Amino acid sequence: MFPNLGGVRPYRPGAFWFAVLLAVIVWLGGCGAWSDEQRTQREDGLVEVLVLRVIDGDTMLIQMPDRTEERLRLIGVNTPEVSDPPEPYGAEAVAYAVGHLEGRTVFLETDVETRDRHGRLLGYLWTKNPDEWPPEENTIRAHLFNARLLLDGYAQLMTVPPNVKYVEFFRVFQQEAREEGRGLWSLPVDEEAYYIGNANTMRFHRPDCPAVASIAPYNRVHLETREAAFEAAYEPCRTCSP
Ligand SMILES: [Zn+2]
Repeated sequence: MFPNLGGVRPYRPGAFWFAVLLAVIVWLGGCGAWSDEQRTQREDGLVEVLVLRVIDGDTMLIQMPDRTEERLRLIGVNTPEVSDPPEPYGAEAVAYAVGHLEGRTVFLETDVETRDRHGRLLGYLWTKNPDEWPPEENTIRAHLFNARLLLDGYAQLMTVPPNVKYVEFFRVFQQEAREEGRGLWSLPVDEEAYYIGNANTMRFHRPDCPAVASIAPYNRVHLETREAAFEAAYEPCRTCSP
């Protein structure tokens, strides 16, 4: 005998075929050009892309699944400049990125903001599709290129809210590289007598940086050394590069 189904409505074949038709329409709709939404809202958030060319350590030209080309700026990291003027370790950072990414298929993950004010895509690049999701620390260390840049000392942490998905890991990775003097952390530093931190932006400056004048007095923090600034989780200003 049939169990009592209470308020459940009887099975209607018409509703089933309507659902199938709807699914097919949705699927066909997804075959056209990719919108930003579709690019970034897949189940695990990852999109397979091809790295066409490395522009500098943290910026590359990539090819999207629909074969359009995009400039991508990596989130959370800043590599030394390669021009205007070239900075120490800039060329090494480029070579490192070329070696790991150029000509390869990788997996793009985005954060809260898809693009920066220059119209570049903002993202994380996985050199291998993670086996588990969310990824564990060992997977992040091994396969997230943004993390590799920090761990191997080719980049400094650059946190720009609200794109902070991996910031807790990134802080640990930079500290590890800094304490072990890896890559750019082995470079000699022309230490200032002191530094000035902005407790609001969490950036720190050389005393003569033009940006210092605009820091509100209640946000101004005196930092004895560069080391102390990094220890207190300040990140270097991109203008005065302390
Ligand atoms: Zn500055």
